Amino acid sequence: MAFEGLSERMQAVMSKLRGKGKVSEADVKEATREIRLALLEADVNFKVVKTFVNRVKERAVGQEVLKSLTPGQQVVKVVNEELTALMGTEQAKLVQANRPPTKIMMVGLQGAGKTTTSGKLVKYLQKQNRKSLLVAGDVYRPAAIKQLQVLGESLDTPVFSLGDQESPVKIAEQGLAEAKQEHVDYVIFDTAGRLHIDEKMMEELKQIREKVQPDEILLVVDAMTGQDAVNVAEHFNRELGLTGIVLTKLDGDTRGGAALSVKSVTDCPIKFVGMGEKSDALEPFHPERMASRILG
Ligand code: GDP
Repeated sequence: MAFEGLSERMQAVMSKLRGKGKVSEADVKEATREIRLALLEADVNFKVVKTFVNRVKERAVGQEVLKSLTPGQQVVKVVNEELTALMGTEQAKLVQANRPPTKIMMVGLQGAGKTTTSGKLVKYLQKQNRKSLLVAGDVYRPAAIKQLQVLGESLDTPVFSLGDQESPVKIAEQGLAEAKQEHVDYVIFDTAGRLHIDEKMMEELKQIREKVQPDEILLVVDAMTGQDAVNVAEHFNRELGLTGIVLTKLDGDTRGGAALSVKSVTDCPIKFVGMGEKSDALEPFHPERMASRILG
């Protein structure tokens, strides 16, 4: 289960605080020390941890907290609020263009779950009675186009493809024309990733962005890769200006570092999380619920 270690340790600290009648400054200090260790062990970015702990400490030793009737509970509340704020506070919604089709460009490294997530988004939008067109622009990964076509078929959704011999930029351009002609609500561009970030990939993505002027640029990153995912997000955001992040494989055994760091580091919200391989395993990301889940 994701966050297992972190959750266990945080819950231990919280229950110790809740159980106290009086809370001293020394108690707060000890609790924040334990929180700090738990977060670092969960692979949360060290700068994020430092800021977080300082904020909690500052608020928790405030007079209104320690002098309140239930100081332990108040400190727990502060931790909960700060953890929520760390992940973005509000649920960040998918953009909807004033005039359809809304253009969503999916970016990310190979294996992160881009193609799978494109299919999941189609399904998510179907539940809101929205029709999509998928554009198969991943011309480099063997079988990516076929994978998207199979997904499209299972979701009863058209897939635009020019095979793997045309340039991804041309595919995107023509895919957009097709989406307009078909009057779909959303057009989702699956793009080509690489195993590592390279200049050619970024250049290509910039050209696609230029041509289609996407309403959303969603970065798909694998939560299991921890701080690597955060570094990837920082890089993509710098180069492309992301509008949102999809954190995949949160059903796996991730320690949680990416989920807790990526918003603070990039200032880009997590919009969805992937909770499995199937098309319906996509959930809007709720910072508050995630914080409560971690704190128990
Ligand atoms: P792409 O190269 O980025 O297009 O990656 P794919 O969409 O092909 O996904 C790579 C692998 O990750 C596939 O085996 C997917 O089934 C799997 N995958 C994607 N998202 C999730 C998720 O949220 N949870 C789990 N457990 N597996 C996922």
